[in-house]
Amino acid sequence: MKVIISGAGPVGLTTALALAREGIEVTVLERAPELATDLRASTWHPPTLDMMADLGLIDDILGGGLIAPTFQVRDRQTGAIAEFDMGLLKGETDHPYRVQYEQFRFTHLVASRLEAFPHVQVAFGTKVASVDQDASRIRVVTEEGVVHEADWLIGCDGAYSAVRAALGIEFPGLTFPERFFVVSTPFRFENHLNRLSYVNYVADTDEWCVLLKVPGLWRCLFPTNEESDEEVLASGERRLQGVFAKPEPYETRHRTLYRVHQRVAQTYRKGRAFLAGDAAHLNNPIGGMGMNGGLHDGLNLAEKLIDLHRIGSDRLDEYERERRHVAVDHINANTARNREMLAERDPAARKRKQDELCRIADDPVAAKAYLMKSSMINTLRRAA
Ligand SMILES: Cc1cc2nc3c(=O)[nH]c(=O)nc-3n(C[C@H](O)[C@H](O)[C@H](O)COP(=O)(O)OP(=O)(O)OC[C@H]3O[C@@H](n4cnc5c(N)ncnc54)[C@H](O)[C@@H]3O)c2cc1C
Repeated sequence: MKVIISGAGPVGLTTALALAREGIEVTVLERAPELATDLRASTWHPPTLDMMADLGLIDDILGGGLIAPTFQVRDRQTGAIAEFDMGLLKGETDHPYRVQYEQFRFTHLVASRLEAFPHVQVAFGTKVASVDQDASRIRVVTEEGVVHEADWLIGCDGAYSAVRAALGIEFPGLTFPERFFVVSTPFRFENHLNRLSYVNYVADTDEWCVLLKVPGLWRCLFPTNEESDEEVLASGERRLQGVFAKPEPYETRHRTLYRVHQRVAQTYRKGRAFLAGDAAHLNNPIGGMGMNGGLHDGLNLAEKLIDLHRIGSDRLDEYERERRHVAVDHINANTARNREMLAERDPAARKRKQDELCRIADDPVAAKAYLMKSSMINTLRRAA
């Protein structure tokens, strides 16, 4: 069996690794000249960590990341803190915690593992331009006019997927009015803000934020409204002073500004081609579900291709059935709810929501049920 994967992001590379380990020939076509190094995902959920253990990647992830035994939903005005103890998931997962480990470290790790497989080729600077297929083969034509042929194609080529466009698959949904701004700083907020954990969602009437610790840095995410790019990029100091006011200016490292969408592809399969990861679904990053959900897609599909390769069992149609509803009913629904909760402007409504979260966090049975959902364990169980 031969598989072409369009896109060397986390989903494309991990799917390639799962297939390669079973002896399947894989070609990964990547438009960029090298792996991306921008600030994107950092939060890893327990079931994704279990999957990474199966792929032999967990020691590197734990060694290069930070274990977050709790996460918090905080209120900037009242100071209320709902703290969720991930340890309640013991027995449900081998990794009852979140890990903060950056996406770009992960893609470099997986790419280095792929080098050990002579039947895997990763071609950088190779942009997929068009796709055509018949009953027995699929062909991908690159921008330079080179034709690659295989049994199956997986479009893991992100938000503006060329595979999705070539297959004529609609991508309905919405684009949020605000853009998101991420600024990182080595300042140690944990020494100054009461009981901060490594993952904190902070509600506020004027400017909600998400504070995430990664090794050596805090990543701070804020919504932005009408400002120009220059105004936003220059606003890091003001925004960080709003998180914790101090006399000296903040030292900052990265600044990233981006648009956020909520979309799900009309279908995840057309003949011999599939979509996975951001090519199939987009959501806002509050809750850390985009890359995690994308990896769950890629590994679900890889398992079905491996079964077909090994024992001739064709369950490929189950892929869309098992994974598309997760994007619609779970990932998009939860991340949209998280955004609404942080941005709630009515103080009374915000207090009601925060009180309810504190009540859930303090009740082990209710907290465990909440964590089974927010950690994406329930959706995987349902599909299985
Ligand atoms: C600030 C931020 C924070 C986030 N935080 C989290 C988090 O904590 N947890 C989480 O789970 N998710 C998070 N996400 C979402 C996560 O980053 C994405 O879901 C993830 O990158 C999707 O991976 P992917 O492999 O599907 O696509 P991508 O990472 O977008 O990779 C697609 C690849 O395809 C390549 N490509 C595109 N077009 C072509 C073409 N025509 N031919 C060949 N190659 C092509 C691209 O160059 C790219 O390398 C966050 C996102 C942002 C922006």
